[in-house]
Amino acid sequence: MSAQLIDGKALSQQLLLQIKQEVSALTAQGQAAPCLAVVLVGEDPASQVYVRNKLLQCEAAGIVSIERKMDASTSQAELLQVIDELNQDASVHGILVQLPLPAQIDPQAVINAIDASKDVDGFHPHNMGLLLAGSDEAFIPCTPLGCLLMLKHLELDLAGKHVVVVGRSNIVGKPAALLALQQHCTVTMVHSRSNDIEVLCRQADILIVAVGRPEMVNADWVKPGAVVLDVGINRIERDGKFKLVGDVDFASVAPIASAITPVPGGVGPMTIACLLRNTLQAYQQQNGE
Ligand code: NAD
Repeated sequence: MSAQLIDGKALSQQLLLQIKQEVSALTAQGQAAPCLAVVLVGEDPASQVYVRNKLLQCEAAGIVSIERKMDASTSQAELLQVIDELNQDASVHGILVQLPLPAQIDPQAVINAIDASKDVDGFHPHNMGLLLAGSDEAFIPCTPLGCLLMLKHLELDLAGKHVVVVGRSNIVGKPAALLALQQHCTVTMVHSRSNDIEVLCRQADILIVAVGRPEMVNADWVKPGAVVLDVGINRIERDGKFKLVGDVDFASVAPIASAITPVPGGVGPMTIACLLRNTLQAYQQQNGE
């Protein structure tokens, strides 16, 4: 392998340490610690793991967390009632509703109901609008924010770089493209209906892949020397064992890329660290800091 490995685990630990220090400085002055409320509806195994990791990281950083577990049969009205309570609770600074939600609940209605000033996932239309407008006050969705921090860590001159984002979801692809544009990159978005995806990907100086298809992007799609950020998390069975792989075929791409994120240990840990960062930002904005 010739590419530099972008160690999301180590970078996220640095970010978590900074957050922990800022939180300790607040509590040392007698202020309350920031508080994140996490709502989990149902028993999706992957969601349970994600929520557990988020709560553990909060604890490690000194952020107070509240977990609201709700039954898989919860109605939309019941969930909206809980969100309303959390919106009204001044001791709660951030609210996260773990997605996906059971079929009877419209996720957009739930996202819209979260007070935008507590929307630490950055999915509320108000925050998406602020991001589009380039405002500093936007809560930026955690996964693309993690990608941006990893690119900044590489100390590349981002201006003029051609960034190709594969995938156009509201939570990863679209905000990743907007962030790249803010950094003066030239941005191409490709998705399931794009033609000639491989040709477009091969033009990328920086390739961000968020699709959800195991190892879809191989070396033929990547320009030698490109930076590759693999957002995908896919659980596959290989040789009778389950393992996590990304959307990028790491084995073939790592020898030709200049830098690449592994899966696991790349974008994933940065996502959680950015959630805590957004929670601290929510606390600071609510306290007029
Ligand atoms: P999504 O299903 O909402 O969106 C997938 C996107 O991929 C769509 O826009 C679709 O147009 C595009 N797509 C589908 N097939 C394609 C193809 N053949 N060619 C090109 N584009 C194609 O998914 P998402 O929520 O954006 O997540 C994408 C992946 O990232 C998943 O594996 C998910 O688990 C992972 N993810 C990881 C993190 C993390 O913290 N690392 C966070 C969020 C999502």
